[in-house]
Amino acid sequence: MIITRQKPIDEILETIKHKKKIFLIGCQLCATTCRTGGEKEIKAMEKVLSDKGKKVTGCAVLDPACNLLEIKRLYRRKKKEINSSDALLGMSCGGGTQAVCEIIADASIFPTNDTLFQGEIKKITLKEAEFEQKCSLCGECTLSVTGAICPVTRCPKSLINGPCGGAKNGKCETDKDRDCVWIAIYERLKKNNKLEDMKKIRMPRDHEKNKAPRSLTIE
Ligand code: SF4
Ligand code: SF4
Repeated sequence: MIITRQKPIDEILETIKHKKKIFLIGCQLCATTCRTGGEKEIKAMEKVLSDKGKKVTGCAVLDPACNLLEIKRLYRRKKKEINSSDALLGMSCGGGTQAVCEIIADASIFPTNDTLFQGEIKKITLKEAEFEQKCSLCGECTLSVTGAICPVTRCPKSLINGPCGGAKNGKCETDKDRDCVWIAIYERLKKNNKLEDMKKIRMPRDHEKNKAPRSLTIE
């Protein structure tokens, strides 16, 4: 899922300081899980805006905000409220906010969140949530020969051909609190009797494969 973090509220308010009527758009998937754009956060944002003397013209939590068809449906249902607003607040990831702008082209839309990474959910309770990046979406997966542990993402130097040699006591030379991922890869391969994969030379990554913007059509 896409991990987002809400911007400081003063920063959000600064971006809309000349706007009076605001429509809020959240996302039922990632932003709800990250607590940056679900029903609860929309309600909290409504209160902040009302306290600042702004009028909230309406809101929607899309399923998800990056689905252009959902946005078209929303626009058909709430055209009047949206068109009467001075600005929209995009309470999703950057992809969702851009998708909304693509359909509601005349809208002045401002993001409330910073989009951080694609991550896994490590822990989720009512009080807290913890996410971790395990993949950087490089477009050329090496997991088959690295014991299903990603060196591109989890080694700060993104080394794909073994360790840099700087690890101390199993910890990364760039951060003593972080395990060296190449030691983890070695241990995983050893456990699975696949140590021969350690010796395989991986060719330099083809950066053409992760050149942005990327697109995919499935037929
Ligand atoms: S090598 Fe790492 S960053 Fe690339 S696709 Fe595989 S898991 Fe993701
Ligand atoms: S110590 Fe390990 S994880 Fe850290 S930079 Fe070197 S190879 Fe990568």
